[in-house]
Amino acid sequence: MEANILVVNCGSSSLKLAVFNSRLEKIVSALAERLDTDEAFARIAGVDEPTALPSGASHQTALRALMDAFRNQGTLKQDPAAIGHRVVHGGETFREAALLDEDVIKSITDCSGLAPLHNPVNLSGISATRNLYPHVPQVAVFDTAFHQTLPPRAFHYALPEAYYRDWAVRRYGFHGTSHYFMSREAARLLDRTPATTSIISAHLGNGCSISAIRDGISVDTSMGLTPLEGLVMGTRSGDVDPGLFDFLAGKGIPASEVHEVLNKESGLLGLSGQSNDMRSLCDLADHGHKPSELAIDVFCFRLAKYVGAMMASLTTLDALVFTGGIGENSSRVRHQTLSHLRLLGFELDHDLNNCNGLYSDGRIDSASSRFPVLVIPTNEELVIAREALRLAETTQTV
Ligand code: ADP
Repeated sequence: MEANILVVNCGSSSLKLAVFNSRLEKIVSALAERLDTDEAFARIAGVDEPTALPSGASHQTALRALMDAFRNQGTLKQDPAAIGHRVVHGGETFREAALLDEDVIKSITDCSGLAPLHNPVNLSGISATRNLYPHVPQVAVFDTAFHQTLPPRAFHYALPEAYYRDWAVRRYGFHGTSHYFMSREAARLLDRTPATTSIISAHLGNGCSISAIRDGISVDTSMGLTPLEGLVMGTRSGDVDPGLFDFLAGKGIPASEVHEVLNKESGLLGLSGQSNDMRSLCDLADHGHKPSELAIDVFCFRLAKYVGAMMASLTTLDALVFTGGIGENSSRVRHQTLSHLRLLGFELDHDLNNCNGLYSDGRIDSASSRFPVLVIPTNEELVIAREALRLAETTQTV
């Protein structure tokens, strides 16, 4: 019978599952949201009827319910042969994906201080699948791992050296699985090998980051110690003056509150006062809503500045690549961003840009552009499934 690979992505109140076959084709996926609340619900992609969850369902309850539903549907006929987990922070310990055992779980737990909102939730997903499938090999794929190749000049903050030595304060970068996928997919589309392809990859979803990838290796990225640094995001501010903390302390706002505001009430939401959703902001801006127009403007200008900054790490550029919900779908954001970069020679083809590169192998640049510009749908689940299969095969149980 066919071996299946289960991919698990645990958020604080959500659980995303995807099942792949051994040819790495996705056969089913599902999403559970509002877990641990009385509004918990789950839905299998392509199925109208939601999957019933008890009120207050935990990640483990949702996992069991969805796996049962996959079985009842006939999409999963046996236990998965391998399970891959998205884990946000691997610190300096993990430069690549790892087969889960007690030592690896301890190291992920040790990294929780660097990602208190993410690693503990990822660990609860791991514990749920280990309870349900104790004999199935499980693999952790880290958001930070691809960026472990950053050179010291790119990962050090200009802070007292003891902060790095004693507390591992440095830039780590995130979205690594997506940036890795972009670099491989861009090479394929450009008919090159990854090891000779250099790109700037912009992942623009609710979280946003940009990376310089030189000859297939990450050499700079916009996110830092935490996923707050860098670009403007849905609700995250990206870069601000660190002096803001002291200034706001003088107004009676404690650091913990500023941190909360920078993460949850800033970015597109903070600027527009309306929404963190780029599609809604584009509609609002089209109807003359000035704060939404400003939010898009700040978003694109910051992104353009970072494209320029990423150039400092490259000697050649084979493509600028856009991905994520905004990067893949918003011709307006791509156009507005590149309009700031005419000096660098980026030029878009209006029609290809409006079609999101769908009919041109992802290409949206004009014939006279100095550099290719591509739109590539990201596929982090595929990378996680591939890594889970590869490492599970080393245990020879698949
Ligand atoms: P996540 O980081 O949660 O995976 P996504 O990659 O799905 O998020 O990206 C979500 C963002 O993509 C939202 O801001 C959404 O408005 C935006 N988006 C999706 N489709 C479009 C579109 N057609 N035009 C503009 N923005 C879009």
